[in-house]
Amino acid sequence: MFGLQPTHLIIILVVALLLFGPSKLPEIGKAMGKTIREFQTGIKEATQGFSDEVKTDAAKTPAPSACKSCGKPLAAADAKFCAECGAAQT
Ligand SMILES: [Zn+2]
Repeated sequence: MFGLQPTHLIIILVVALLLFGPSKLPEIGKAMGKTIREFQTGIKEATQGFSDEVKTDAAKTPAPSACKSCGKPLAAADAKFCAECGAAQT
């Protein structure tokens, strides 16, 4: 499965132990945890940015025409007069 097995993790741990010494291991673990957290935060931000873009696009969609005088929605987008107040829509 994906070439990574528990034995590999143990080998990596032993190599890290030999390279950095036991005193450095907590630091390495902390740094790895930080990297993973930052990675997850980045994904979250990217996802939020995407949904924000979608929302902005939705806001750009033209709203149904409203009367320039009273603000009531018009029966048609190209209506010449408002059905509510009779104001001319130019
Ligand atoms: Zn009106």
